[in-house]
Amino acid sequence: MSKMKWAQQLAKDAGVHIQWHEVSDQAWGQQKNAALAAGEIDDVDIDTFSPSDAAHNPEAFEELGKDLNKLPNVQKFFRDRPDIKKTVTLGGKIYVLPSGRFKKFEGAGSHLMINKQWLDKLGLKVPTTWDELENVLKAFKTRDPNGNGKADEIPFNPKKLETDRITDWYLPTILMNSTGIVTTSNSGPSQNGIYVKNGKVGNFMQTPQFRQVIEFLYKLRSEGLTPQDWVTADDDKYNARNGGDGKSAATVGVAFGWDDSAFGAYGSKIANQYISIPMPAAPGVPQSKVVADGSGPMTRFENFKCAMSSHAANKDAALKVINLLYSKKYSIQQEYGTIGTDVLQKGPNSYEVTPGFRKKMAEGSNLPALSDRLAGWVSDDINVTGDYVADHFAKADEAYHEQYKHYSHTKDMMPNYVQLPESEQNDFANTNTALFNYAIPVVARFVTKGGADNDAKWNEFQSNLKKYKIEDNTKLWQKAYDQQVK
Ligand code: MG
Repeated sequence: MSKMKWAQQLAKDAGVHIQWHEVSDQAWGQQKNAALAAGEIDDVDIDTFSPSDAAHNPEAFEELGKDLNKLPNVQKFFRDRPDIKKTVTLGGKIYVLPSGRFKKFEGAGSHLMINKQWLDKLGLKVPTTWDELENVLKAFKTRDPNGNGKADEIPFNPKKLETDRITDWYLPTILMNSTGIVTTSNSGPSQNGIYVKNGKVGNFMQTPQFRQVIEFLYKLRSEGLTPQDWVTADDDKYNARNGGDGKSAATVGVAFGWDDSAFGAYGSKIANQYISIPMPAAPGVPQSKVVADGSGPMTRFENFKCAMSSHAANKDAALKVINLLYSKKYSIQQEYGTIGTDVLQKGPNSYEVTPGFRKKMAEGSNLPALSDRLAGWVSDDINVTGDYVADHFAKADEAYHEQYKHYSHTKDMMPNYVQLPESEQNDFANTNTALFNYAIPVVARFVTKGGADNDAKWNEFQSNLKKYKIEDNTKLWQKAYDQQVK
């Protein structure tokens, strides 16, 4: 950090000397609790503490919500996005500030990707229903679309089930959206099955739509359209399958992914074969009711980006640094590096990422910037060209723009600012531990061996979910929703 030019300018503009401490994610995971317990935190902390960390240790943190008169750039951020302000407000207090990066990152993190080259070669259309998808997958399996004379195609490559939640990034349970139930798979209680329909909170594991998804996944596996071991295949195996032969022959037809980079480097012969497609409709669901994952704001915004020690020796200086971090000038530089070297200013609100910076992005190390770890606000009026990750991601997300309009983002999903009070978070977590210890092995059996179509087995599963207090968690979230979404 101390060698980045923009970081040196920051110290100069703030009139302070900054001593940077850097710590890897892994090391921080081991150090954080000890740092909190000792109350030893740095004056200004970037990408280190969550609102919940602060709520548990309020004496260690400056209550930044009381300092907003000294943070006009943060005030502007909160005026622009009151929904994001709510993500850092706990019990009326703000200790930790959020971040928002370039607007092209506002979109669902998990996109349904398909091998367009295979579709074209076989003369097939983009599937718009599960039935059409199944037929496409069968053609992928039997008609050697990668042309190597071997039946080596993996028509659909689902990411393995997690042990402590029902959905997450890239999990096949995102197919819930095909039924009209919105997931927000990036984070939050949707990962535990919590959903909202017209203001009423439920758990989708208790719905007939979930049963449909489970039965569909079983059907695809029983027809050999997914790897037989997908439920437990580790990430290395999953990613290796997506990568095909690593040169020119793809082996996967369909998978959930960030964008085409799920299959290889941008521009590579394999990655170039893939496009995103809208969620296909489950049987009986009209296209107008099919939805797409509502995680959009969570991909662009994060709520744990900047905190300040309550013991900072010079509070005004620390606040000055924080305010500068959230200025346009330093937000853009945190994300894209030093203006004039890594990113060029082309107009009052337009910037161009340089080839040199792009090369470093591709190498994936030693970026002279914080990238998505920024503590800043790259507002909607700012345009950036040359960020190929943003460009590919935004292109992949375009397929869902229509389906985002098929639901209310406050009445039909849990907005990302809704939080359980601290006093209820342990109850929620403890119930989930027992609930998913029971439920995931059952779901894994249903999708590998079948049985969800059997009423007696399904009803037993449902009655056990209740025994494991699934409805207690729904009640907690209904109360939080009713109090916070108005
Ligand atoms: Mg083949």
